[in-house]
Amino acid sequence: MAKYKNPVLKKGGHKVTSPFGMRTIWGKKQMHKGIDLVGEGSSLDYIIAFADGVVKLSKYSSSGGEYVQIDHGNGNLTRYLHMKKDSRTVKAGDKVLKGQVLGYMGATGKVTGAHLHFDVNVAGKYVDPAPYLEGTKEFDNTPNIIKQWQLAAIADGFEFPKFGADGKWGNECVAVSKKAVCKRRIKHKFQNLTKLVQRLVGVEADGKFGPKTKTAVIAYQKKNGLVQDGSVGPATWKKLLGVK
Ligand SMILES: [Zn+2]
Repeated sequence: MAKYKNPVLKKGGHKVTSPFGMRTIWGKKQMHKGIDLVGEGSSLDYIIAFADGVVKLSKYSSSGGEYVQIDHGNGNLTRYLHMKKDSRTVKAGDKVLKGQVLGYMGATGKVTGAHLHFDVNVAGKYVDPAPYLEGTKEFDNTPNIIKQWQLAAIADGFEFPKFGADGKWGNECVAVSKKAVCKRRIKHKFQNLTKLVQRLVGVEADGKFGPKTKTAVIAYQKKNGLVQDGSVGPATWKKLLGVK
């Protein structure tokens, strides 16, 4: 019986019933965004956290059934679907450790039988969980201020369609930073980007772009030889994020 280096089932043994990738299910070709597992001897087992993190969601959905989503930081997320009814042991906001029990395998949601659907999302894209379970791939947890900015922008509803949150400053970043300035003038609804600006210019990060933040931005622009308009466009972002 195969065992993963980073297991998501408590007993450790597993069988893959459906891998990541294209598959035909209910007569339709579909992308399977995760990996389906059952325990040793096709049995049920406790589901454990893949790595340390914070529970983002612990709820029911009609397709995923009873499920848990864990945020591992830096845009790395894992999900555990189709858990047994009333078996979830964690709630949103809980800190969890690698190996901690999250619930029990089941058949809730849209399934053909009891199993665990486990998926890995890196910077907004589902990727093959197998190398992560096998331990040949790891989450990149290096602090990267550009990636933090990209993730904040994604959380605020912006998109980086070609490259995602890749941690590199390119044309997509310039486009988003231009759009963010225009839209912010209409509505102060970009909380995550605003908080990041506030942290970088040294004012209280309350997510509201008010007079205090504007004054601090103008002071920052003056100090760094930028145009002193008090709004954060591509040139100011480049300086704030340390882009050469
Ligand atoms: Zn699945």
